[in-house]
Amino acid sequence: MRHLIIGSGIAGLQAARTLRAVQPEAEVTMLGREQGNPYSRPMISQLLEGSVQTNQLDLGLPPKVELIAGESAVSIDTHQKVVKTSRSRHFPYDRLLVASGADPRPIAAGKADLQNIHFMRTRAQVEEMLAEMPRCRKALVLGGGLVGFKAAYAFLRQGLDVSMLIRSEHPLSQQVDPTAGGRILEKLQENGLRVSVGLEVAEFLGHNGRVVGAELSDGSRIDCDLVVVGKGVLPSTGFLDHSGIVTDLGILVDDFLRTSAPDVFAAGDVAEHFDLARGRRWVNAIWPEAAEQGRIAGLNMAGRQVRYPGSVSRNTIRIFDLDILTCGLVDPGSEEGYEVLQDQDSRTKTYRRLVFSDDRLVGAVCLNRIEHGGLLLYLIKSGRPVPAPKEELLQPGFHPGRLGLVRWQAMAASSSPLPPWGGFHS
Ligand SMILES: Cc1cc2nc3c(=O)[nH]c(=O)nc-3n(C[C@H](O)[C@H](O)[C@H](O)COP(=O)(O)OP(=O)(O)OC[C@H]3O[C@@H](n4cnc5c(N)ncnc54)[C@H](O)[C@@H]3O)c2cc1C
Repeated sequence: MRHLIIGSGIAGLQAARTLRAVQPEAEVTMLGREQGNPYSRPMISQLLEGSVQTNQLDLGLPPKVELIAGESAVSIDTHQKVVKTSRSRHFPYDRLLVASGADPRPIAAGKADLQNIHFMRTRAQVEEMLAEMPRCRKALVLGGGLVGFKAAYAFLRQGLDVSMLIRSEHPLSQQVDPTAGGRILEKLQENGLRVSVGLEVAEFLGHNGRVVGAELSDGSRIDCDLVVVGKGVLPSTGFLDHSGIVTDLGILVDDFLRTSAPDVFAAGDVAEHFDLARGRRWVNAIWPEAAEQGRIAGLNMAGRQVRYPGSVSRNTIRIFDLDILTCGLVDPGSEEGYEVLQDQDSRTKTYRRLVFSDDRLVGAVCLNRIEHGGLLLYLIKSGRPVPAPKEELLQPGFHPGRLGLVRWQAMAASSSPLPPWGGFHS
């Protein structure tokens, strides 16, 4: 059996590890656009911050897995079962996994090709920034999503003067509600971040080919000698044109992570499955789901029949002395059918917000006391009614046993709830 994996990120790596474990005799080949072994992508922000070294990111390679690094898939012939690469080589497969991840969303600003304007998706991009950093004083970060936020934090920790341009009122607007977002913003500002809301870069300004500033949409100017563009990501699907593989935002997959093409699977940031909190198809571009999808895709490529139950977005982040936990749907806005409970204590600087749909927990944000995050996530993932007064969950010190959750959790672990949508092959 020849297994081919496009992409050497965590989804591809987990699939390779799984295939190697369950089909020791199979041929497993990974095609990776980037150079070198798979590495921890979230940790590139710590690399930028200076708190880890490059070699600490390396995730290694399973034995007897061939990695073809620095070569991209450019097209797939799903009838002949062959992948063509950027070096015009052809790789036949019996089972194929597309785990090509996501690419940064481009920006429309003028002169975005000046030197020292970077995206932050790869280790190589961060290494370039680090090489430039000794010559830089003023960083400009575009976008307050996870990547922009992490870049700004890293630059602050590196002692740069940092400005951030964001569209919404606060950073991490996809991850947290306005109250938590306001607290995060205050914390960044206390540590020197300048934030402008509702502004875009119209054009970058250069000198000798290097960026020296930006003209903003209101006509004002800002000096900068290092720019990071963090305006979100898009699933990396360009090479699928003419393959016949059906995509929406990402590649549509069924519960077994099969795409619309026979023997082709997809996993990770490129795959669109089902969000358990939102109750609809969604691309949850986060590390733990990419890893789990890779593992399940690997099992199914090896002939097992393992369902992926759906994803829930989540993150735990520390900025300076502020701990943040976020999971699920945290800000349903004015959408009907949701109940929001929240509690904050200015003395202990804690904040907890829970979002319910009927009796089900669908989202949570916690600041500073993030205990029982796993349990909150479990409640969201299971989709079962909370077996206790909801208000009790607002108390960070609640005891799972007192809520009857321990017994209930053990019972629930034996049955896996499935998302309510079928697949291509069912
Ligand atoms: C700065 C940063 C911080 C993050 N922080 C967090 C965090 O705190 N928590 C969290 O959960 N997630 C975080 N993420 C997101 C997380 O890294 C991703 O969800 C995860 O890496 C997705 O894994 P993947 O394998 O699906 O895709 P990727 O990691 O994107 O890997 C895909 C690989 O495929 C390669 N590829 C693409 N096209 C081709 C092709 N045609 N041929 C061959 N190879 C190809 C790419 O170059 C890439 O190496 C962060 C991401 C970044 C950039």
